[in-house]
Amino acid sequence: MKFGTLYAYWTSDWHGDYKLFAKKVKDAGFDILEISAGDLLTMSDAEINELKLVAADLGISITSNIGPPKDKDVASKDPAVREAGIKFLSDIMTQMDKLDSRALVGVIYTCWPSQFDDLDKQGMWDRGVQSVKRLAKVAGDLGIDYCLEVVNRFETTVLNTCEEGLQFLADVDMDSVKMLLDTFHMNIEEDNIPDAIRLAGDKLGHLHVGEGNRNLPGQGSLPWNEIGQALRDINYTKGVVMEPFVKAGGKVGEDIKVWRDISKGADEATMDKNIKESLEFLKKAFLG
Ligand code: MN
Repeated sequence: MKFGTLYAYWTSDWHGDYKLFAKKVKDAGFDILEISAGDLLTMSDAEINELKLVAADLGISITSNIGPPKDKDVASKDPAVREAGIKFLSDIMTQMDKLDSRALVGVIYTCWPSQFDDLDKQGMWDRGVQSVKRLAKVAGDLGIDYCLEVVNRFETTVLNTCEEGLQFLADVDMDSVKMLLDTFHMNIEEDNIPDAIRLAGDKLGHLHVGEGNRNLPGQGSLPWNEIGQALRDINYTKGVVMEPFVKAGGKVGEDIKVWRDISKGADEATMDKNIKESLEFLKKAFLG
């Protein structure tokens, strides 16, 4: 297993200086920095290359996370929107290849968060499958894992459980497509989190970790030892990436719906210390 975190733990905006965050995650003991994939479309090739060299120098890898906007929804009823979404996600993967980022993760079978203005789940599913087949070809050619994130009912109608994720993967039937499970979402939707991980088995391509309120692992009540056992049962070797959201404010707070300070007033030094301790806790629980 490789451990990482989303940079947005430290920001209130969905952008950042990833060279600085690469150093921060290395200092905390992580192997992976997860960035906002959309930023790769506005970075120059020189900036991408600079980040690639910084990450390589630190010995960390970069995964790329995206919540596609509604006008880039590859499951949309509107064929022009689906085409725009396929182009958007394909262009991101071209940039990821330059960065040597080998996992694209998120709700990349529709948009995020859903506006719930189209409740035709089957229609969205079928159109999503057709689009993901085309994106899987791009991902496969570039050696990128295309990881579909299963999220809770308040964020999409399409994939809410591991079982649904497996059916969608079977419908797409392309090796470059994997599933992303996230303990925060699973806590809402799954009957049993470790059993869902075992059910995913070798289709699991990425794991997001966080408590039921998206606090750092170890701060809440999720069964981390049992989750670790399930990961060992499936011989999981891929990314375990934290997505802690503990501060209200900004676009991050608004999109994630953080309306209070979950960090209990932590300043930046305390935030750094807390995430380091959480990583030590998680490694103990997951590595056995
Ligand atoms: Mn997630």
